[in-house]
Amino acid sequence: MLPAGSTIGILGGGQLGRMMAVSALQLGYRVIGYAPAGDNVAADACSAFITADWDNAAALAQFAEASDVVTWEFENVPVSTVQALPSPLLACPLRALEVAQDRFHEKHFVSELGGRPAPYARVDSAETLAAAIAEVGTPGILKTARDGYDGKGQWRVRSLIEAGALVYPGVTCIYEGFVTYETEFSVILVRGKDGQVKFWDSTANLHEGGMLALSVLPAGPLVEAQVPAARELAARVADALGYVGVLTLEFFATREGPVFNEMAPRVHNSGHWTIEGAATSQFENHIRAIAGLPLGGTKTRFASIEMRNIVGEDALKAHAILAEPGEPHLHLYGKAEAREGRKMGHVTRVGHALK
Ligand code: AMP
Repeated sequence: MLPAGSTIGILGGGQLGRMMAVSALQLGYRVIGYAPAGDNVAADACSAFITADWDNAAALAQFAEASDVVTWEFENVPVSTVQALPSPLLACPLRALEVAQDRFHEKHFVSELGGRPAPYARVDSAETLAAAIAEVGTPGILKTARDGYDGKGQWRVRSLIEAGALVYPGVTCIYEGFVTYETEFSVILVRGKDGQVKFWDSTANLHEGGMLALSVLPAGPLVEAQVPAARELAARVADALGYVGVLTLEFFATREGPVFNEMAPRVHNSGHWTIEGAATSQFENHIRAIAGLPLGGTKTRFASIEMRNIVGEDALKAHAILAEPGEPHLHLYGKAEAREGRKMGHVTRVGHALK
């Protein structure tokens, strides 16, 4: 068990790091953050924060020196950055990052463990795009294989002609068949150092423009029927990676069962409701797991829960939400600029308490 007063190093400076840091502080730890220059809102909750590029060897050495254990809040931290740190410091296996950073690797890895993704093919030229469309069909989605998030680096493809303009030389993409689904859901689990796995309830997730807008519980009968198989798969993925901490797998609930979309080796936006809505939040259990502390219960505490993201300029009037009935819980991330399409905060509303 990591003694109180130890320092947890977090790679990445966004809101996930900020909420992880709050939980770490609550458990008596200090936090040092590390991220390149930007609006690093995690820094507000850290005892120290290093602003440096991902390949700054001297800064990484300083970060390693100050940390007793290291985790990340962002799956696109370069693998070479993590490799530059002494491996005993790493709480989560590097392989989880390697797999999750590349959509091919991720789909292949999860398929080998019995998961079913949408049909997909590799695209890196006009010829391979035409071949992918011929194989997978239309409509489909072209996604950059790496570095995409929140619907960025994705294009809907309705026809080969429309797709012609979409090939970027030198950028490897994946072309996926468009999945007709009833709803989306995620499985969020925490795995301890001893291999114990706990799951939170799965919310139904609604996306707008490729970005999560809303997560709700109960998720409805279709999702509930598909959760057991999705959980089994997620646990197999976590075991195969020797994972420690919170891991998320996203699915489409189709009439033919769950279709795997992607995984995130970290806490997840669709789990923010757990702060007020579960016995232990995803953030606290992630910290508990990497610190080798006993994991907390994951049971849902309310009959209904809704978590809604606050995006762009809506944040400027978000405090008004607190005057609404139903005890809304507001979280603002402290971002400097309320740009369009930017996650600025979230609000969680809960129904009556469960006994
Ligand atoms: P991703 O970054 O892959 O999670 O995609 C972001 C969102 O775009 C997903 O949550 C879905 O709402 C939508 N999406 C992505 N891939 C597909 C697909 N193959 N079929 C239908 N919708 C998709």
